[in-house]
Amino acid sequence: MNLIALPAFTDNYIWMLHDGHRAVIVDPGESAPVIAALDAQQLVLAAILVTHHHADHVGGVDALRSRLQGPVYGPKRERIPEPYEPLVDGDAVEVLGMRFEVIDVPGHTSGHIAYFHAGDRGEAPILFCGDTLFSGGCGRLFEGTPAQMHRSLGRLAALPGATRVCCAHEYTLSNLKFAHAVEPANAELAAYTEWCRAQRAAGRPTLPSSIARERDINPFLRCNEPAVAASAQDHGAESEEPVAVLAALRQWKNEFR
Ligand SMILES: [Zn+2]
Ligand SMILES: [Zn+2]
Repeated sequence: MNLIALPAFTDNYIWMLHDGHRAVIVDPGESAPVIAALDAQQLVLAAILVTHHHADHVGGVDALRSRLQGPVYGPKRERIPEPYEPLVDGDAVEVLGMRFEVIDVPGHTSGHIAYFHAGDRGEAPILFCGDTLFSGGCGRLFEGTPAQMHRSLGRLAALPGATRVCCAHEYTLSNLKFAHAVEPANAELAAYTEWCRAQRAAGRPTLPSSIARERDINPFLRCNEPAVAASAQDHGAESEEPVAVLAALRQWKNEFR
């Protein structure tokens, strides 16, 4: 199975999984990069997975319907271009012979879902997490609360360490700059930043990341770490309680340049 990040707009990725014949895509904010990729390898579009309702994730859905030979899946609790198969936490979908479990991850939007494949035939698990978890960061809280985002990120952080984390934006380097401000003594973070700089300099994505790596370097998954909590308390967190830490980190990041 091939896992590819198709660049879209300025910093989005539309993820594509294909087996050489059939493809599934995730969050097609625009159709042109998808059509180009399908045509280049003569792939049949078997399904579309949508994580949340933002235009940069659903804007290409309708234009792809004429190419689509299967369903559009999306969150039941959000407005997605109709018709689509509505999903809630605990549901599972089968695409390209792979089973994906649906995980509710409210915070960035109120009905945001993620898709998790546990892996088989020796391949690492796969997570499509939209705008909830980014490498080194998390989505802005447009519709949800810090407590919701903390719980959502906790569910993702509990997935197997080898899970390939397929985020919907290339925000990694700017997130790592912030992560360094939060945790300047984190050696894994420094090494990972060097690797990501080299990837971007070579025109390559920094993604997918892995859950194990994010646990080591992502401050939003590290709210229990004393160093992270101390930094957050220097930037407005009222206590070292993890939700208060996350709320202060998210606010600090919003203003960070
Ligand atoms: Zn979004
Ligand atoms: Zn987005």
